[in-house]
Amino acid sequence: MTARSLDSKESKTSIEGFIIDLDGTVYKGKQAIEGAVEAIADLKRLGKRTVFLSNRGNISRKMCQAKLSGMGLDVPEEEILLSSTVTANFLRAYYRHSPVWALGDAGLREELLAAGLTLASKPESAEWLVITLHETLTYKELNDAFRAVRSGARIIATNADKTFPGDDGDSIDVAGMIGAIVAATGKEVELVIGKPSSLMADAALQALRLPPERCLIIGDSLASDIQLGKKAGIRTALVLTGSVSREEAEASELRPDWVWNTLEDVVQLHTGAEDIETEAGE
Ligand SMILES: [Mg+2]
Repeated sequence: MTARSLDSKESKTSIEGFIIDLDGTVYKGKQAIEGAVEAIADLKRLGKRTVFLSNRGNISRKMCQAKLSGMGLDVPEEEILLSSTVTANFLRAYYRHSPVWALGDAGLREELLAAGLTLASKPESAEWLVITLHETLTYKELNDAFRAVRSGARIIATNADKTFPGDDGDSIDVAGMIGAIVAATGKEVELVIGKPSSLMADAALQALRLPPERCLIIGDSLASDIQLGKKAGIRTALVLTGSVSREEAEASELRPDWVWNTLEDVVQLHTGAEDIETEAGE
């Protein structure tokens, strides 16, 4: 695939902004998915705007930027939107002075602090408990989060995904951390920030500075990526490099505009544009 082949039919497509999922779309665990880095580089060479939109809440943008850079993809921090980022921005906008307790990996705290929020000094003084994935979870940390909620903290979650594709297969995700706290406290999660929420869609569109009809979301999850697109009026492409098979995609009520084997197939948008406009026009 070359930049020239993409460029030749560029005028036939109105898609200027690409919202790209990370886990299962760009990489799996520590490994880049074949062809993904090159496909993104080609989009950038064509002057297309890109933003990476991930439900990962346990890493910060800086950590994500370093990971992508290690794969040969240099992305400015402003083009990375994680559920930790959007959660921190939400709390800053509406609860700026509320002390926050975090149940999750260090990346979440880094992102909360970067937004200027205050971390509570002890669980009992927290007004919000933020839950995300915690890959080195201990009993004490779970118990501290439990005590924060017992002392009145409201619960917000970066996302509620059940699993994520790890290096050695599907692994338990934030739903498991939420389940432990909700079951023990009897309190509900008040807000889940991650995809398919409109907060994530709005953050991506704002970063791209484009209206939804000029954008495309590409991801491996029907429930988060494709559903976000459907709710926000953004066209959708499902890639089969993550958790969903072609059969599952075809059986689903959520019909993506395109189903691609890999992110590399984004080239089809520009080489067979006439067919695609018809296909997408449903
Ligand atoms: Mg994904």
